[in-house]
Amino acid sequence: MARMKGQEWDAVVIGGGPAGLTAGTYLARAGRRVLLIERGRLGGRALGLGLIENYPGFPAGISGRRLMRRFTTQARRWGLAVRRGLALHIGRRGDGMIVSSEKGGIHARAVLVCTGTRFVEIPEAPSGGRVGHGAFERARDFRGATVAVLGGGEAAAHQALALAKAAERVHLLHRGPFLKAIPLLRRRLAERRNVDIHARCRVESVGRLRDGLTLSLSRGRPLEVRALFVLAGQQPELSVLGGRPAPRGCFLAGDAASAPRQVAAAAADGMRAAMECERYLEAGCA
Ligand SMILES: Cc1cc2nc3c(=O)[nH]c(=O)nc-3n(C[C@H](O)[C@H](O)[C@H](O)COP(=O)(O)OP(=O)(O)OC[C@H]3O[C@@H](n4cnc5c(N)ncnc54)[C@H](O)[C@@H]3O)c2cc1C
Repeated sequence: MARMKGQEWDAVVIGGGPAGLTAGTYLARAGRRVLLIERGRLGGRALGLGLIENYPGFPAGISGRRLMRRFTTQARRWGLAVRRGLALHIGRRGDGMIVSSEKGGIHARAVLVCTGTRFVEIPEAPSGGRVGHGAFERARDFRGATVAVLGGGEAAAHQALALAKAAERVHLLHRGPFLKAIPLLRRRLAERRNVDIHARCRVESVGRLRDGLTLSLSRGRPLEVRALFVLAGQQPELSVLGGRPAPRGCFLAGDAASAPRQVAAAAADGMRAAMECERYLEAGCA
């Protein structure tokens, strides 16, 4: 396979969630030298999900952990190289690309950005307070506790339902008049006696308690909770682009590319981007 002088990799994939693993597997199987760089654990956000009921091919559902283990095994089988680290910036260098990371620069002919999304930051949150961004915290760590989830979409509904299995009480706080989650999830929430849904509600400030947080809300009394899970204001995580459009040779995929926020959609979009990237490499990066 032709490689340009001085370039270590044909492609670097940033992010090891469903989109990145699918893209990396496709390109590695096509015979490309591919490096995936992941700041956390392989599997991405999907790794922390409980039972995924809507991924095709698993009629009884499959846990995020088991599904992502399969993705990872398949990627490794085709020789995808993986490096742990935070990618900081992507730029063009000569006729290729350079990804700067905590551990130095990585040269490649093409880059795939599969970095998912980030949720809104809560500036009022006191440092050290337990403010999480969902899906990664195990519900059983909150057994018997009162917790709050901020957000009215599908991710917030999933998180509230997962927490409700162990927590004593879950407050679901959202700004709009109605939850945006699909009817099935709304029905499940309504059936849960330990979930309180607060519509048209904003968190105005967050204070710290010895073992938790106190939330001042735009309506009603303040809430004392062990933890607040922020699943609102989801935005593509594109900080590696430094606010600029993706340069030539850089392909976006999955949640980072605003694909519908589902594991199957992220995987499919990773495949699409990898196929585009393969055509680009085949054409000599023209
Ligand atoms: C609470 C919740 C419940 C959900 N439930 C479902 C469900 O039931 N069914 C379903 O289909 N979908 C569900 N989703 C959505 C699903 O998790 C996402 O759509 C999917 O994980 C997106 O895949 P991705 O690969 O695009 O991004 P992600 O899975 O977010 O992966 C992105 C990866 O990039 C890494 N990364 C980011 N920036 C950098 C960087 N600079 N350097 C190195 N690595 C970086 C991150 O660490 C992460 O591993 C849920 C999401 C949430 C939050």
